[in-house]
Amino acid sequence: MTAWRHSLYVCLCLALAGCGGDDSGSDSPEPPDGGERLATELVTSASFEDIGDAAVWMNPTTPGEDLLAVALEGDGLALFDHNGQLLQHDPVRAVLGADIRYDIATPDGQRIDLLAVGLPEEGAFGFYRIQPGLNEPLTYLGSLPATIEPESVCLHKNVTTDELSVTGVSGSGRVVQYKLRYDGSGVVSTVMDDTGQPVPVRRFSAGGELSDCVVDDKTATLYVAEEEVGVWAYGAGAEDVKGRRLVDSVYPLGRLQEIEGLDLIYGGAGAGYLVVADEGVGFSVYERGGENAHVTTFQVEGIAEAEALAIGADAFWLGNTEAAEPVYEKLPYSTYNRAVTAAPVTDVLSHRELEVPDVKLVAATAETDEVDDDGDAADDPAFWVHPSDPAKSLVLGTNKQGGLMAYDLSGNEVQYLEGGEPNNVDLRQNVTGSDGQQITLAAASNRELNTIALYRIVEATPDQQPIQRLPAVGNHVHAEAAELVSGVGEVYGLCMYKGFDGTPYVFVNGKDGQVEQWRLRVTQQGVAGEVVRRFRLDSQPEGCVADDHSGKLYLGEEDEGIWTYEAEPLTTADPTRFAAVDGSTLVADVEGLTLYDDGTNKYLIASSQGNNTYVVYDLNNSGSVAGVFAIIGDDERGVDGASDTDGIHVVPGQFGERYPNGIFIAQDWYNVDGEYAPGNQNFKLTSWDEVMQVLGL
Ligand code: CA
Ligand code: CA
Ligand code: CA
Ligand code: CA
Ligand code: CA
Ligand code: CA
Repeated sequence: MTAWRHSLYVCLCLALAGCGGDDSGSDSPEPPDGGERLATELVTSASFEDIGDAAVWMNPTTPGEDLLAVALEGDGLALFDHNGQLLQHDPVRAVLGADIRYDIATPDGQRIDLLAVGLPEEGAFGFYRIQPGLNEPLTYLGSLPATIEPESVCLHKNVTTDELSVTGVSGSGRVVQYKLRYDGSGVVSTVMDDTGQPVPVRRFSAGGELSDCVVDDKTATLYVAEEEVGVWAYGAGAEDVKGRRLVDSVYPLGRLQEIEGLDLIYGGAGAGYLVVADEGVGFSVYERGGENAHVTTFQVEGIAEAEALAIGADAFWLGNTEAAEPVYEKLPYSTYNRAVTAAPVTDVLSHRELEVPDVKLVAATAETDEVDDDGDAADDPAFWVHPSDPAKSLVLGTNKQGGLMAYDLSGNEVQYLEGGEPNNVDLRQNVTGSDGQQITLAAASNRELNTIALYRIVEATPDQQPIQRLPAVGNHVHAEAAELVSGVGEVYGLCMYKGFDGTPYVFVNGKDGQVEQWRLRVTQQGVAGEVVRRFRLDSQPEGCVADDHSGKLYLGEEDEGIWTYEAEPLTTADPTRFAAVDGSTLVADVEGLTLYDDGTNKYLIASSQGNNTYVVYDLNNSGSVAGVFAIIGDDERGVDGASDTDGIHVVPGQFGERYPNGIFIAQDWYNVDGEYAPGNQNFKLTSWDEVMQVLGL
């Protein structure tokens, strides 16, 4: 990029047209003739030789009266006011990288604002408290060992759970993340080993030289800049083990060249941008949402190399690192918007404003053993209540890659019945067979054969496994397995219903939206089934639950909402919409549905997978939302939280000390051990009493 250095020309490049990161892939782009030039408004009052990454503290009471904290490498840390006047300079320790989060809880119930920096010489993270009213607003709070030499740092505050973490990236490609807590005097790791040393909740290698990172708290996305390769998107959660996605890469595959800095602009309703400072091509602007589509690239007069930036309430702060006297320069959005119409910046939100209100938090009580297969495997639970000794009750769960499990109430696997690809499972107790005997009848949707597999559940004893296959008999039996052949395209969700006359039914739905209602008959030879009703939804359903008392079927349409049908087969009434996906309370996908009915209270609970919460609807109060909760981890207990949940199940009743009033079971996409090493998926068990308490029910 020497062409840039020698050029006094500065250009504004709109979209892909003209200079900078265009599709032609030229590495010495020509500025367009007569193009508009973006000029900054002011520069910081003091210059430092090695200015680097910066972070803006946004003023909640006087918008725009922000503070700018700048990492100065060997010169330490500087703090400027919104006019660029130097307020404070802390030269004590070398600093690389800066990030800020707000309203961090303190032990005495207060909230503080926090600045995190990288301390490369100590191999640590450093923390400062920010108190804007003071003469010296920054107070050093000490450091936390990082196990890397951080090249940059980023903070993440989970908008649902308030959990705070810091991530550091290194020049050798390492990424480490620690969960944090402010203990009243300093910032400490919430996870420690036996010797009291902080344990990272995540560490991985992201490739070559890493230059910066930034977390989108709202979408829980961690963006990592690999200087010579591209910008990567990872999940930001400590437990997130899903793969990464390439946002953009360097020429010739992408439009970048040498990636130095990242920051995010939050707009309302998911709008906003990811901004990438690239030494070669300038400042590139990408959509914040979706797959981060590239919107535009711009240059700034006098800034020869785009290396560092920070997003303010009303302006970009851009590092002019190659100036004779390096400074930060302020580019107001009003100036930018007049020139860069492709990506207007308006109504910028601070991190303070991202938090999801009114989500109550409940710690998981216990968890099951992990399933046998890795990746997406655990899916849907069910529960068998022991008729006389509640402590001997069983949690059932599907491993959709290989079989059906039974667990005791401590989560220990009692049985793994391998076979098929059971997706959803449900059961009904006290089903009367043709011989008058009562059994527990369970059914699972088997994606391997597009069938309904049937089981009987019995008490687990040393001589007896609790899940026993029941062969399907009569018509509609699959040639390879004694299971009922479904006519829906790709069996998916499944739930059972016991009719007003005691008849057992099973509802099975397919990815194509079709739903079948089967009537089952238990005979001495097995279970006979016939389809008594068919209907369909416009798009993919899955979770469902039937209320045997009211005769209602609740059916989730993953992207749309929840529908109510009559569950008795002869009724043909059209469904009514029970709840719509609204992107705030109920966020797609709608996954598991379950019903809590203790004889007095009746709730429908839905897994709102898109925001890792569970919505409780009060069926005694017109289905109004009674509350929303999330299941968080308990680091002392060594149990992690539940997120990205598929199936859920709740059961009323007393199940010992830990579960005085019901158990709520949730599949957990990301299961980690007590030291955050990822494992296979499992199910989390939570005291429903605690859920009722936090929701005030
Ligand atoms: Ca930063
Ligand atoms: Ca189930
Ligand atoms: Ca699903
Ligand atoms: Ca599922
Ligand atoms: Ca988890
Ligand atoms: Ca775990």
